[in-house]
Amino acid sequence: MKIREILKRAFMPRQCILCKEVIDYDQEMPFCESCMVEWLANLDLMCGTCGFDAENCICLPEGVREINHSIASFGVFYTPKAMTPVNRIVYRLKRDYKLEVIRFCANIIYQRALKLCEKYKIDYSDFCVTFPPRKYDSVKKYGYDHAELLAKEFAKLMGLELIKVFENVGETEQKSLTKKQRLANAASSFELLDGLQLKGKSLFLIDDVMTTGATLHVCARMLRHKGAKTIIPITFAKDM
Ligand SMILES: [Zn+2]
Ligand SMILES: [Zn+2]
Repeated sequence: MKIREILKRAFMPRQCILCKEVIDYDQEMPFCESCMVEWLANLDLMCGTCGFDAENCICLPEGVREINHSIASFGVFYTPKAMTPVNRIVYRLKRDYKLEVIRFCANIIYQRALKLCEKYKIDYSDFCVTFPPRKYDSVKKYGYDHAELLAKEFAKLMGLELIKVFENVGETEQKSLTKKQRLANAASSFELLDGLQLKGKSLFLIDDVMTTGATLHVCARMLRHKGAKTIIPITFAKDM
């Protein structure tokens, strides 16, 4: 073991990403024993519509289905307002910066991307990665844009280039809006940056959670308008 690694382990104990209890550096999953049980229980949840677990659930919000004829995916189920491990991870992802949390979520998106590309025989070697950025106010408040960091870690795992395409000029959080309002709000929230060359490009569009799919839908529409070829949306979680 390198000196740097020994020092890190001695002075910066690794913490469970859910309860912050100290855990072993050598274990694979970033959870303590009891949080691991909760995480696994969450993976056993079945979709109320198709009856499959998250890995095999074929239900996508309408806004996402329309983007690329349902070639889209998500990692785990998300139930707003419940205190599930996924909700706590999403909360940390957004507000309490920890690289291990971001990497954990990015890795789940990565696994889904590989599975999706295999299923549809997609050669992703010339794809780029992009994301819908957070509002400027949120980035200022929390000190980072979790969507950007998530996309960055995902791009690293895939060996692809991350490109910034959008600017978020919105003022209202999607969270507080109804399904109808979300589409209009998303449409007025995102603008394309100047001087982009997107003609013929294929992109993974990465985000934390899909709810109605409004944000992903609006962003994909803008990419397509600029001549993008294939757009594949993948998120860490999907609202059940
Ligand atoms: Zn824990
Ligand atoms: Zn389903």
